[in-house]
Amino acid sequence: MPQTAAGRPVRIDLRSDTVSLPTREMRAAMAAAEVGDDVYGDDPSVRRLEERTAEVLGKDAAVFTPTGTMSNQIAIRCQTEPGDLVLAERRAHAYLVESGGPAALSGATVVGLESERGVFSAGQVRAAVRTPHPMVPDACYPVARLLAAENTHNGAGGAVWPLDVLQDVADTARGLGLGTHLDGARLWHATAATGIPESRYAEGFDTVSVCFSKGLGAPMGSCLAGPAPLIRRARRFRQLFGGGFRQAGIVAAGALHALEHHRERLPEDHRRARRLAGGLDELPGIAVDLDGVETNIVRFRTPGMNAFRLAEGLLDRGVAVLPASPDAMRVIPHLGISDEHVEEALGAFAEVLSAVPA
Ligand SMILES: *Cc1c(COP(=O)(O)O)cnc(C)c1O
Repeated sequence: MPQTAAGRPVRIDLRSDTVSLPTREMRAAMAAAEVGDDVYGDDPSVRRLEERTAEVLGKDAAVFTPTGTMSNQIAIRCQTEPGDLVLAERRAHAYLVESGGPAALSGATVVGLESERGVFSAGQVRAAVRTPHPMVPDACYPVARLLAAENTHNGAGGAVWPLDVLQDVADTARGLGLGTHLDGARLWHATAATGIPESRYAEGFDTVSVCFSKGLGAPMGSCLAGPAPLIRRARRFRQLFGGGFRQAGIVAAGALHALEHHRERLPEDHRRARRLAGGLDELPGIAVDLDGVETNIVRFRTPGMNAFRLAEGLLDRGVAVLPASPDAMRVIPHLGISDEHVEEALGAFAEVLSAVPA
């Protein structure tokens, strides 16, 4: 069954690492999964996934959710009260790419911090938290309650946080009495790039969200990990948000298979991302910041052609990409993309760019 983009057939789908299809082995694990009603706590496959994820992340407990979006929004909801201030990077997924979730679901006030490739400093966190003074009426200000960081940073092109800066930011937030949340949808990729275990990146954070449906290639699912009392509270909000999903073990088994078998292959995606970046940068009309390609995401400018037109031309040749704006684009290799696909895609880019006068 061919994949499609906007109803048109696609041979090489580079829009996102979420488009990968489950492997035969993954489907076998899902078909064989022992299941039960997870809302009653009866699903052994879900429990196994939650326990293993908590272990990998160095946390007490974890809760399985249908999506990373739900996992992030549960994390914000269970660590804030309506009106509270949340500090997040200004392009953070949990803040700006989740349909207004922090406002709609938690009633949170979000301050977007400026950053260098998704990375901000402890000094910025300190500056964003108000210093109380007896001459200023305290009651006027929202209570700063939660700091959120994203590693790797999607909007910044899969950028990896330096561990010392990440820990400094988390420790500073905790020192100021804030809770801390790490959006680690692609935390696996940070580990694959640096060799630093996921649990080290997670250390200073109360909650960590991870996705199985991105580079790991599972059809769906995320986990939110943290201390047991906070995860008990998270289960209440998962139910409130409609995320109690019964025999979820069918998909949890696919996620567990992905966690155990697909982390080790992520460096392949990183290598293909670098090859794509290098090949694209050689084409007239495309500009790639090669040093910025640290993991599996390649974001680049298209000064030679409108990115939407370029994407149309590529789709005519069976290659799907994600135009981000009229002059910017994203491609992401994943489980379903081979070296041959990468070379074919580069050929299609060259054809489309040369077919149109500059
Ligand atoms: C994709 C993504 C999410 C959300 O995950 P979904 O499963 O698509 O809801 C959260 N954070 C980051 C950084 C992401 O890239």
